Amino acid sequence: MVPHRLSDTMGRLVESERALMQFFTDSPATALSHDDPETCDFLAGNPQEMALPEFVEAIQRWATPQDPHWFAYKFNEPYAQEAAADGLRERRGIPFESDDVFLTNGAFTGLTLCLRLVADPGDEVIFCSPPWFFYRSLIVAGGAVPVSVRVDEATWDLDVDAIESAITERTRAIIVNSPNNPTGRIYPAETLDRLAAVLTAASERYGRPVYLISDEAYSRIVFDDHAFVSPTERYPYSFLVYTYGKQLLTPGQRLGYVALPPTMPDRESIRERFWLAQIAFGGHGVPNAVLQRALADLDPLIVDVKALQRRRDRLVDALEAAGYEVHRPEGTFYLLPTSPDPDDAAFARRLADRKVYVLPGTLVDTPGRFRISVTGTDEMVERAVPIFEAAARR
Ligand code: PMP
Repeated sequence: MVPHRLSDTMGRLVESERALMQFFTDSPATALSHDDPETCDFLAGNPQEMALPEFVEAIQRWATPQDPHWFAYKFNEPYAQEAAADGLRERRGIPFESDDVFLTNGAFTGLTLCLRLVADPGDEVIFCSPPWFFYRSLIVAGGAVPVSVRVDEATWDLDVDAIESAITERTRAIIVNSPNNPTGRIYPAETLDRLAAVLTAASERYGRPVYLISDEAYSRIVFDDHAFVSPTERYPYSFLVYTYGKQLLTPGQRLGYVALPPTMPDRESIRERFWLAQIAFGGHGVPNAVLQRALADLDPLIVDVKALQRRRDRLVDALEAAGYEVHRPEGTFYLLPTSPDPDDAAFARRLADRKVYVLPGTLVDTPGRFRISVTGTDEMVERAVPIFEAAARR
């Protein structure tokens, strides 16, 4: 028998994701059972409550075919492009064109397509750390080299000087995620302007654009009176990547898009290439027929953000009172407290023994912290608070 020899890229991927794979296949997280009423699932941004009734109605309505072509192959369907562009125009006051919207089954595919579009094997792509844990894999899977740049840990804002120092002639793109998973930070306009100046200078220096891939998965999960500023409004060579998985809390119904802002130079040539990338690299990763039909009904729908905010406040206040060091996120689903035990994985294991499931910070490049998702229910929060308190005392 000849032993397996899979691609080197796959080998690099396994290397970069070892800790994550281990956590989900061989850790207390695998004991999590939703049949157990005591389970407090704060692990990932997964729904713990029934979906919005309007969401269910829209899916049901559009699942009934109205013509023989209803379930034919779908691509970037004009009615879905128009609905997504309409939503962007209305909320942002920017004249997005529907032809510049490419439907994807979530941000996973949107990010993959943008990366494949701009980076060749060996090229470098910068991402900011702490990151969403799959950036590294998506970059590696395309053959490019991930370059991690730490944010400023005092403010969780982008460290633009560090980004500038990390740019080389091989840098093709930077992924910016605001509001940020896991820090909850919304990057201010001034920071984005400084970033734009650095990217513009680098693009001129090396004679080709450094693209900005703006991961806006949480752009509608914003708390208090914070304003979300899209990085795509401050720098022309930008891709806007969106998913409906957060605003609807339905990540298992894969729906999202990539939009080119009207300021993106030479959009016609990008449109053509994007179309090809969708087929060649995305594995026909467009949303299914029902979701594309439903998009116009889904775009205005959104989960109760105020309820998430109340849960954020309940948890931040309780954790602070119990002695945890924790900041109040401006958006997203996540809190990032300091772990009382420097070994965050061991701490997460101890909480899991009490059926409280959190993500060890090591998995998102923040050793010594842990991540709590406020998508857990109010009941889970109330059950978990005394457990967090007791764990802090220990
Ligand atoms: N980007 C960020 C920052 C995320 O948190 C997630 C999902 N957790 C994604 C992208 C991927 O979104 P989706 O699964 O809806 O494609």
